[in-house]
Amino acid sequence: MTKINLRPMLDADEIMSILATVPDPEVPVLTLNDLGIIRDVNIDESAGTITITLTPTYMGCPATEAIQKMVSDALTDAGYPKPILKEQLIPAWTTEWIKPEALKKLEEYGIAPPGSDTDNEPKRCPNCGSDDYQLVSQFGSTACKSLYRCLQCKEPFEYFKCH
Ligand SMILES: [Zn+2]
Repeated sequence: MTKINLRPMLDADEIMSILATVPDPEVPVLTLNDLGIIRDVNIDESAGTITITLTPTYMGCPATEAIQKMVSDALTDAGYPKPILKEQLIPAWTTEWIKPEALKKLEEYGIAPPGSDTDNEPKRCPNCGSDDYQLVSQFGSTACKSLYRCLQCKEPFEYFKCH
């Protein structure tokens, strides 16, 4: 018996474009593709299996399981078989893997994008563009962000820490 909802061909490009629509559970304005965490899509035509390798953004990040489930759901919703999910811890993910266009999206969303290792602080307030701000807390809504307050517009904002 053939399943009518199953695609006859497994296409890596199409799989990538499906994964490119899956949002990051912690920063929904970014997709998994924006974050650069999808390391590999491997298709075994004869076995009919898809293996997806992901690198978690932060070690022990509670979002990892949620991300795996979202990837699995996105593919099965599109008629693909349930993928085999692999975690690749080395090399470790760094904020440098975030796609350049995604840094802009972060700022538009109100989160200051990551700086560099040597200059690990926001460039400017994402609300008004002022560079007159102060650190409120090393930890924001999640451990990967810290909380700042702009001294110009008085708005608090989060900074996606370089890592
Ligand atoms: Zn401001």
